[in-house]
Amino acid sequence: MPIPSTEAPELLATPSELRSWSARCHAAGLSVGMVPTMGALHAGHRALIERAVADNDRVVVTIFVSPAQFGPREDFARYPRTLDADLSLLGDVGVHAAFVPSVEAMYPPGLVTRLDISGPLGERLEGASRPGHFNGVALVVTKLLVAGLPDRAYFGQKDAQQCAVVRRLARDLDTGVEIVVCPTVRDTDGLAISSRNLYLSPEERMRALAIPSGLAEAMAQFDAGERHSSALATTVRSCLENKGLDVDYVAVVKADTFSEVETAAPTNQIVLAARIGNTRLIDVVRLGVDTAPVGRGV
Ligand code: AMP
Repeated sequence: MPIPSTEAPELLATPSELRSWSARCHAAGLSVGMVPTMGALHAGHRALIERAVADNDRVVVTIFVSPAQFGPREDFARYPRTLDADLSLLGDVGVHAAFVPSVEAMYPPGLVTRLDISGPLGERLEGASRPGHFNGVALVVTKLLVAGLPDRAYFGQKDAQQCAVVRRLARDLDTGVEIVVCPTVRDTDGLAISSRNLYLSPEERMRALAIPSGLAEAMAQFDAGERHSSALATTVRSCLENKGLDVDYVAVVKADTFSEVETAAPTNQIVLAARIGNTRLIDVVRLGVDTAPVGRGV
């Protein structure tokens, strides 16, 4: 097992600095893991980073709130930015480098190159609710992979459609990077940890628990033999609506293509997005794979 660094991470500010750092690691025969994030680091990020530190000789965490993946009416401006606390967490966990570029360093004036994630994977569910979102994700992730040339890159199952997009693009573009997907980290009450949970009032935070309990109820139904996706989705939707959440979508999908299935099977995923006040949350469970986020009837 690699020995974690005890020093503060080396700060890298431009793609060329990232490339030279990675080239130095590889020249010394060291493997490189990369964990892309938007900062405001929490226990979910920490789990990804710890896995990367365990798997690789050197780890770089990227912290960049990429405007390309936010729609014009989304929360780019108010997205939490906590760089000092983030860097101190990276030091604690033994990360070797932090890539913290400016918007100008990542998107130089005159940039015209776009990536297009087509078909259901890019255009349905999150893709339909957030037009252009996955094209923005694809562009920034590709730029990070091309600059950092990691052996492995780490992503969270919580953003399931993003994981599927990244896996696909890593393969389509022959990056040679192994994409590692890590399980969703939840608070003890079952709510998936997210930087956007900071937006919730205490009362909204309580109502948000309809998300893990709705998913748990549908999982119990599946375990009891229910295979109609529409029945499973209705269970989740009713649970959310009973607590006054504004449901964007609930669907049962194939993990790799995100096409919706009529008959649910093990490894299919129940995915959802819902609004509580001004905050939009997403969640996912893998049928027959995950344990329920909370006990039944919670
Ligand atoms: P973000 O900073 O929100 O872009 O997230 C950076 C990475 O952390 C993404 O791959 C997310 O899927 C992952 N992540 C965020 N929240 C969690 C969580 N609760 N559990 C596991 N991974 C997470």
